[in-house]
Amino acid sequence: GDEFVCVIPELLSASHLDKTVMHIQLALADPFIANGEEVTLSCSVGASLYPDHGTEPGQLIQHADLAMYSVKQTGRNRFALFNQHMVELASERMSMEKRLRGALKRDEFSLHYQPKVDINTGAISGFEALIRWQSADMGNVPPDKFISIAEDSGQIVEIGHWVINEACRQIRAWRDLGVLSAPVSVNLSVRQMREPSLLNDIKHVMETHRIEKDWLEFEITESILMDQQEQASLLLAKIKALGILIALDDFGTGYSNLSYLDRMPIDTIKIDRSFISGMLKSQRDLSIIKAVIAMSHSLGHKVIAEGVELEAQLDALRLTNCDHYQGYLYSHPRPAEQIQIMLSAQALAANSPTLKLIK
Ligand code: C2E
Ligand code: MG
Ligand code: MG
Repeated sequence: GDEFVCVIPELLSASHLDKTVMHIQLALADPFIANGEEVTLSCSVGASLYPDHGTEPGQLIQHADLAMYSVKQTGRNRFALFNQHMVELASERMSMEKRLRGALKRDEFSLHYQPKVDINTGAISGFEALIRWQSADMGNVPPDKFISIAEDSGQIVEIGHWVINEACRQIRAWRDLGVLSAPVSVNLSVRQMREPSLLNDIKHVMETHRIEKDWLEFEITESILMDQQEQASLLLAKIKALGILIALDDFGTGYSNLSYLDRMPIDTIKIDRSFISGMLKSQRDLSIIKAVIAMSHSLGHKVIAEGVELEAQLDALRLTNCDHYQGYLYSHPRPAEQIQIMLSAQALAANSPTLKLIK
C-alpha cells in the first residue's frame, strides 16, 4: 500500500537517525506533477533500533509500525522512535476495540443531553446529545477515550446510527409530551459521512419517528469540509434538504479555512471551548471570538459559545453579540429523565401566569 520500510544498516548515533529521517521527509515534501495536477505528500515516520527494540526483523518492523501509528495519532508528518509505552497504548486500544464490539448488543450506551441557551432571553434554545458508555468491565468510559477508536475500527458507523435513532426516539417522545420546542443535535463523525448508506439511514430513522423540519441538528467538524470539499458540500446540501440543521463544531481548532464557510449550508458556528476558557485572560482569544462572531453573522450563521463555565464569561459574551451558549454554568449534560423534569417545569412555568411571576 502506502507504507515503506527503510533499513539503515550502519547507524552512528541516534542523532544520525534524526538527520536521515529529515532527509527522507524533505525529499518527499517537494511538490510534483501527476496528471497535470500539483501533488504534495506528507509522511509519518516511525523507527525502531536494533538490538534495543528487537533482534528479529518481524519484531523490529512491528515496533517501527507502532511508532508510525503513534505519529499518525498525534498529527501527521512527523517522526517518533519506538518506546515500550506504545505497546501498552496499542494493547489498551485493542482491548477497548474488542469490548466496544459487543457494547451495542449489551445495551451499554446511553445519551445525555446538554441544554444550549439563548444569551438574550435566557431560554433553552436546543440540546446536544452526547453518548455515554457504561462498560461492564471498565465502568464509565468517556467519549474522548473511545470515539477515536470506534472511528478507526469503523464501529462508529453502527454506534453513530444507534445515536441518531435514540436521539430521534427521544425527540418524538418529548414532542408528544408537548415539552420540547427546540432542536436536538447529534455529533456526526467524518467516518459516518463517508458511509454510502448514510442518507438513506437518516431518512429511514426520521420517517420511523416522524421527525419534522428543524427538529434535528447535526454537529460536524471542520475536518469533514477539508477532506473533500465538493463531495462534503453536496452531502450536506442533501442532509439539509431532509430538514436537518447543521452546526460546525469546535470551530477554530482545525484548519479554519474560511473560504468554505459561505459555500457550505451551515446554520450555526460553535466556537471551541478553548477560546472561551481563555477569553477573560487573553486579549487574543477575545479578539478571535469577536472576529468569528462578526464574520459568522455577516454570512448569516448563528454563533454558539461552547464550554461556558463562569458567570464572568457569560457577561463578556453578552458584549460580543454572541447568540447562544452551552456549558457547565447552565447545566452539565444530564440523562434524559432529568432533562425531562427540567423541560416539564419550564413548560408549566410558561403556561402558568402565577409561576411566571415567581420565575
Ligand atoms: P463536543 O461535541 O465538542 O461536545 C462538547 C463536550 O464538552 C462534551 O464532552 C461536554 O460534556 C463538554 N462540555 C460541555 N460544557 C462544558 C464546560 O462548561 N466545560 C468543560 N470542560 N466541558 C464541557 P463529552 O460528552 O465528553 O464529549 C466529548 C466529545 O466526544 C464531543 O465533543 C464529541 O466530539 C464526541 N462525542 C460525544 N458524543 C458523540 C457521539 O454520539 N458521536 C460522535 N461521533 N462523537 C461524540
Ligand atoms: Mg458537539
Ligand atoms: Mg464541541
